Amino acid sequence: MHKVKILDYLVSDFYSIYEALENYENIENSVVYRSQNDSNIHIITLNMEHLHLAEKMPEFKKILTDAELLIPDGESICLLARILAKQKIKKIAGIDLAEKLINNYSRIAFLGAEKTVSDSLRNLLTARYSSESVSHSSGADAFNLNARKEFFFEHGFYEKNQEESIIERIVNFNPELLLVALGSPAQEFLIAKYRHLFKNTVMVGVGGSFDIFTGKLSRAPRLFIKLKLEWLFRILQEPKRALRFLSNLKNFLALILKSSLHK
Ligand code: UDP
Repeated sequence: MHKVKILDYLVSDFYSIYEALENYENIENSVVYRSQNDSNIHIITLNMEHLHLAEKMPEFKKILTDAELLIPDGESICLLARILAKQKIKKIAGIDLAEKLINNYSRIAFLGAEKTVSDSLRNLLTARYSSESVSHSSGADAFNLNARKEFFFEHGFYEKNQEESIIERIVNFNPELLLVALGSPAQEFLIAKYRHLFKNTVMVGVGGSFDIFTGKLSRAPRLFIKLKLEWLFRILQEPKRALRFLSNLKNFLALILKSSLHK
């Protein structure tokens, strides 16, 4: 697999991740993805905020370096690859990856987002994947929608003291894929904390993807995506993101400056 070194991180490029997903029946069967520590795979959709946090917080940096797969989820990461590594990589949006993975796996747990969003995601996926009757399987949250896919849903606004029991229920569900939509870095910390309890599970933090899947927020129109302006659409949709954008821009410039001084 083709990886590009950006600062201390090996970022996989767009084509290799899709190639891998298409060529391997199950991503975990590939030695490329096999973890050194356990049989799980943590995929991080890397952005500027992750890089900045990792600079300030060694425990977060360790999560990034321990992850089996970092994918570039932001034009800023692609630009860093261009400037620092002189390599061209293509952005892969977390939501596109999430969709691809949902299509690829059969037992999927969805943790996160507001309760109404989580419920509506359940309805949406029920409608999409079950043409037959819906039957309960292990526990109230697990659905055997048809022979092919089973789902588990839990919203992300629980009390801290409920966390362990929620994780226990997910572990019992034994997902092939766990999508965590708690926002960053909470989702990455949660995966890192509990990953050892799982077996052969692909785990990804997917930010606001469930909000987009269910239509609470909209995905940028094609033209914005094509012009690499998805970030602008997100600011227009959620103006409070403007501050985050400016601080990312500042951090991006600081990183470039710092690495050119170290050359
Ligand atoms: N969220 C959650 N529990 C929380 C805080 C946030 O489930 O305690 C959800 C929120 O509803 C949204 C997602 O996490 O669906 C965060 O999305 P955002 O786009 O803000 O992610 P980020 O850009 O921070 O990764």
